[in-house]
Amino acid sequence: MAIKTQIDLLNQRRTKIIATLGPSSDDEYTIRHLLEAGVDVIRLNMSHGSHKDHQATYKLVRELSTELNRPVAIFADLCGPKIRTGKFKNDQIELVNGDEVIMTTREVIGKSGLIPSQYKSLAKDVMVNDPILMDDGKLELRVEAVAGEDIQCRVIQGGTLKNHKGINLPGVNVSAPSLTEKDKKDALFALKLGVDFLALSFVRRSTDIQDLRQLMEDNHLDAGIIAKFEKPEALENASAIIKSVNAIMVARGDLGVELSPEEVPIAQRKLITMARDHNCPVIVATQMLESMMDTAQPTRAEVSDISQAVITGADAVMLSGETAAGKHPIQAVRMMSRIIHQTEAYMWQENNFSALERDLTNYDESPFGHAVAHIAAELAQQINVRAILTLSQTGMSARTISSARPAAHMIAISSDEHTYRRMNLLWGTLPILADDAGSNHPNQLARRIAKETGCAEEGDFIVLIRGFHAEKEMNTPSVTLLTV
Ligand code: PEP
Repeated sequence: MAIKTQIDLLNQRRTKIIATLGPSSDDEYTIRHLLEAGVDVIRLNMSHGSHKDHQATYKLVRELSTELNRPVAIFADLCGPKIRTGKFKNDQIELVNGDEVIMTTREVIGKSGLIPSQYKSLAKDVMVNDPILMDDGKLELRVEAVAGEDIQCRVIQGGTLKNHKGINLPGVNVSAPSLTEKDKKDALFALKLGVDFLALSFVRRSTDIQDLRQLMEDNHLDAGIIAKFEKPEALENASAIIKSVNAIMVARGDLGVELSPEEVPIAQRKLITMARDHNCPVIVATQMLESMMDTAQPTRAEVSDISQAVITGADAVMLSGETAAGKHPIQAVRMMSRIIHQTEAYMWQENNFSALERDLTNYDESPFGHAVAHIAAELAQQINVRAILTLSQTGMSARTISSARPAAHMIAISSDEHTYRRMNLLWGTLPILADDAGSNHPNQLARRIAKETGCAEEGDFIVLIRGFHAEKEMNTPSVTLLTV
């Protein structure tokens, strides 16, 4: 494949932007402008929309990505055992503090005092005094009695309850599997489309991930897996989960309901550090520019939130409702991009991103890869290397180098289309698709691509890294300093 000049992409920010598509953004005009505004990864949310809609959106994104010559990864976000209310007669009801209401798993249309739930085992999972939260924790009920399929509750925090709002049961051991029957159908549909990642919701332990991997294996299909951290159990099992996936997401919406909101920033910080220690890309998600759902300007707190995610080393930040259903999807992406740019410019000027360096002494596993990546980043800094290039067939080398957060630009070359697109989630990485990425002349290839991307000219230094492998015996990383 011909490689066009990509100097403009190279000069871009290091932290990647994810945008969720939906009714506000699934047309050609908006997707084009979202990509031009800097979206690196697209999220298709399986909680909303039909397969037909998602298929059409997927096709548009792929076509525009080719036309605009921008690598774009796509992931399908599986709903998981998200419990939701059913439908109401007039699409909503009012809950008044202190009133008694019945939540039921019977198949009924809801009305004042009667809330249907789509989760069949709800009456078996809850006990007297358990809280039931709805609509991202805005509304709260307390269980007073359970009789068959009916749960008698008291309204603790009232308000308007609309159709199909999420239900959270903090502290309750929900018996539903992480991979539901709907998820299996959605996963197979998305895998057949060719998505680059599947995101699994409400992950509790690493065996939840194995179930999804097994589904892929059984059907001879493949994609990277993103584990969404939104349950306290996932935090307890974080290390095992991180080791078993290709990326994680700090899904702060549900996490802030399952935990209390004030615990979320600490969980976010811990997860970013842990994920980076395992060379695992980490996404910070939800309510990043929530006010831009309605207004063209974000709040100062939202700007600060994005900036903090960048400063603490997230690989990517995500927009959900802002781009899927908000009034200003394109402005939201532009704003996010500006905030990242500004913060990264500061980080660059202050210390060349070295505040993102990790302490290599604390690893529980071999620091081999980390050390090589660290040395390459150091070398690049000391002799003013124009770019670090890596040949990466599985993406492992790119993940390792990206985790060291080098100041030099990173170009990750692969001949595998899936790897090429998946690498677009990685901090600071520009993926390049090249037929000869497995070539016997890696130095020649690196020099050529450095020139073609416009990141280096005759006489400039570049660093080439290759040879990382998951198998110990085959893991022979090398760092080569080249003159273009
Ligand atoms: C979240 O809860 O923050 C999240 C990203 O998940 P979803 O939007 O799928 O509920």
